[in-house]
Amino acid sequence: KVRVRFAPSPTGGLHLGGVRTVLFNYLFARKNGGDFVLRIEDTDQTRYVEGAEQYIMDCLKWCGLNPDESPLVGGPFAPYRQSERKALYREYAERLVMQGHAYYAFDTPEELEQNRKEIANFQYGQAYRETLRNSLTLSEHEVDQLLDAGTPHVIRIKMPTDEHVGFDDLIRGHVSFDTNLVDDKVLLKADGMPTYHLAVVVDDYLMQITHAFRGDEWLPSAPVHLLLWKYLGWYEHMPKWAHLPLILKPDGHGKLSKRDGARLGFPVFAMNWFDAKSGELTPGFRELGFLPEAFVNLLAMLGWNDGTDQEIFSLDELIEKFSLERVSKAGAKFDFEKAKWYNAEWIKKQDAGKLKPLVAATLTEKGIEITNDDYLLQVINLVKDRCTLLPDFYQQSAYFFAAPAEYDLNAVKPKWTDAKTAFFKELSDKIQALPVLEAHPFEEQFKAFTEEKGFKTGDVMLPFRIMLVGGKFGPHVFDIAATLGKDETIKRIALALE
Ligand code: GLU
Repeated sequence: KVRVRFAPSPTGGLHLGGVRTVLFNYLFARKNGGDFVLRIEDTDQTRYVEGAEQYIMDCLKWCGLNPDESPLVGGPFAPYRQSERKALYREYAERLVMQGHAYYAFDTPEELEQNRKEIANFQYGQAYRETLRNSLTLSEHEVDQLLDAGTPHVIRIKMPTDEHVGFDDLIRGHVSFDTNLVDDKVLLKADGMPTYHLAVVVDDYLMQITHAFRGDEWLPSAPVHLLLWKYLGWYEHMPKWAHLPLILKPDGHGKLSKRDGARLGFPVFAMNWFDAKSGELTPGFRELGFLPEAFVNLLAMLGWNDGTDQEIFSLDELIEKFSLERVSKAGAKFDFEKAKWYNAEWIKKQDAGKLKPLVAATLTEKGIEITNDDYLLQVINLVKDRCTLLPDFYQQSAYFFAAPAEYDLNAVKPKWTDAKTAFFKELSDKIQALPVLEAHPFEEQFKAFTEEKGFKTGDVMLPFRIMLVGGKFGPHVFDIAATLGKDETIKRIALALE
């Protein structure tokens, strides 16, 4: 059975790329009738950030990408938080030592610092063992003595010399690494916690993960993982790897970073992230007024397409159409204008009933009191084609809830005449006589009356709009009048004529 996992380290908010990793895992699992696991990789206590785990779970929920197994919902392979699994990793690290594939390293912080200085001039990462590996010169007895004396130590993998390790990546094809260029990564830390490298392999094995989608930035770690799978005797169970293409800056030059968002004025996080330590707030797509459907859709298109021109996909359609063959190897440029286009399309496409709670929240926050749900639904249907982000609903619909406080009558006033005043007074009486104000018959009546009075439609239609709306925008003016209703329309005409 297909089993995939998203394995974030709770170190902060989720970047676009992180959520896309979730999405591709999720799509693959759903497509293949598999399980989607959320595992929290929190073994690096120094990078642990309060609130980040909750943020990740909230984010998955907002996107509708709910895991089948997680710290929250549990599952057959619980616990799903690595810090709670601490005790089980040591055994594997020690097994590797016994087999000669790993070793105890007793380097002091000073020695490591010295090593770091020496390797500063090296171009590759292999330098740790080049200059240190001193414990390998110790006899077994000497190692035992140090261990017995409680000397602080870590366990490191012993990278083989002059080997090439490779595997077939589901997206990138065959990739291979020269082991001379990979250093002896720590597997078990002095505090007994495993590092990411050991924990990810042990847990992917124990949790029976079959496919692992992750960001391209993890590719350099792959040779370490691959050797661990081999050395632990699990190679045939190793998941198939899929390293996802980078999400690039809008100009295509390099990886999109949090700083680019701040610099260029767009979000790169899924939801607002407040860092309690720095007091810094990183804005998110959700709070900016993106719909989760649009967010998921635009993420899917960062590195994937279905081979046609179709760009708008629901989550169900994505599950149906998703295929690894159509994930590109090349990085995908992020374009915020295009992201907004997705949102506008989704607002248009979305059922007004589904938009209602979101729009209500937007309007309420601006001080508008919503007393009639059906009225709100009508308004949403009338203006949703004009909104790109959720807050646009305020600008586009506030006049449905309160008469405009200010008129842009300037555009009209200079040409104002008593004849126009008379026209609108009479129009008011006509409206008053109607049983109900309905858009279409009223439009006919309005036009006939305009003609009768010797006006061109334009002469009176724009003023009429401004009386109702306060400005030169909005949907068809007769739809507006019909929605406002007879009394309110009359009231606004009177108000404007005062
Ligand atoms: N814990 C790693 C991260 O923070 C997971 C990488 C992987 O999927 O192997 O992204």
